[in-house]
Amino acid sequence: MQKPIETLVEEALLKMRLDIEDPFTASQCGYPGLEGYCRRKRLLNHFKPENTENDEELQKVFIKGYFTELAYKQIIRDIHEERVYTKVTWNLSMDGVNIRVDPDIWIPARQKIIEIKAVKRIPDKPFEHHRIQVGIQLLACPRKAIGEIHYIEWEGRKWNMKTFTIDKLKDEEIEKIKEENKIVMEFWQNKQIPPIPDGFQMYKYPCFISRIARCPHWDDCWLVEKSATEILIDDIDVYYKLYLKIKSLKESLQKLESYKDKLEQFFPKEQGIYKCGDYELKVNVIPETIVPSYKREAYIRYTVRKKKE
Ligand code: SF4
Repeated sequence: MQKPIETLVEEALLKMRLDIEDPFTASQCGYPGLEGYCRRKRLLNHFKPENTENDEELQKVFIKGYFTELAYKQIIRDIHEERVYTKVTWNLSMDGVNIRVDPDIWIPARQKIIEIKAVKRIPDKPFEHHRIQVGIQLLACPRKAIGEIHYIEWEGRKWNMKTFTIDKLKDEEIEKIKEENKIVMEFWQNKQIPPIPDGFQMYKYPCFISRIARCPHWDDCWLVEKSATEILIDDIDVYYKLYLKIKSLKESLQKLESYKDKLEQFFPKEQGIYKCGDYELKVNVIPETIVPSYKREAYIRYTVRKKKE
C-alpha cells in the first residue's frame, strides 16, 4: 500500500536533517587552519543535533536556502536543453574513510558541477569551506569536470547572483583533508567530542558571527554555567521583565526615529528659522568635525534570557 503523503514528507524532512548532521559529507570536510573550519562543530552537529534544530535563526536560514535552491534548480533545468541532474550521490573513499558527495547540480553534457549557495550578501570570493566542498565534488566526479559555485542573494524582488569557478584541490590540501577525516572518524567511533580548537575565541568567527548569529553550539562551548545563589529569584525575574520592556521600548523608538528621518528628508537644508502654520522650524547646520578617539573605561555588561520551559 502506498504510504500517506504526510509520512513521505516527514521522511523527506528527516533525510534532509540527517544530511546536515552527517560528519562524512563533502560539505563537512576541512582541516585545522582552514578559515571557518571547526572539528568540534563537525562532531557536535552529529551528536547534538538539537542545538541546530532549536536555533530559530539558523532554521530560517536553512529554509530560505532550501527554497532558493529548489527554485534555482528549476531555472537551471529550464534554461538547458541538455539533461540536468539535481539528485546525484557519489562516494569518495579517502584513505578508507567514505565521504558522501552530492552536488546540487550535475550537467554531464557540459561536464559541469554547480553548487548553489543562498547568501545574505554575495561574497567577493568563495568561502573556504564552500571551495573545499566543490573541490571534493571534482575529485569524486566520475568524469573530468568544471566546478562552479553560484552565490544567490534573493530578498523579495531583489535577485543578485555571482558565479565562481573552483580549481581542483592541491595535493597537499587533499592530504590534510584525509588526515583530518581519519581523526574525525576516530572521535566519531568513540562517540567523543573534540575540544575547542586552539586559538578559537568566543567573540570571533567562526564561533561568533554577529550579535544575532553565532555558531549553534556556542552555549556548549562557551557558556559557563554558574549558580548565582546570591541573586534572589524575584530580583532576576524583575530584572528580566525590565530587560524585555526596555527592549520593546527601544524597538518602538527605532521605528519612530526612522519615521521622523523619512519626514526630515522633505525639510529645508539651509540654516534658518522657517514658519509653517502654527509651527516654527529651526534648522541648525552642524559642520563636519573630526571627533578625537577616546579611551573607554572597562565595564560589565549583563545579558539575561529565560530558559525555555
Ligand atoms: S562555538 Fe566555536 S569552538 Fe564551538 S563548535 Fe562552534 S565554532 Fe567550534
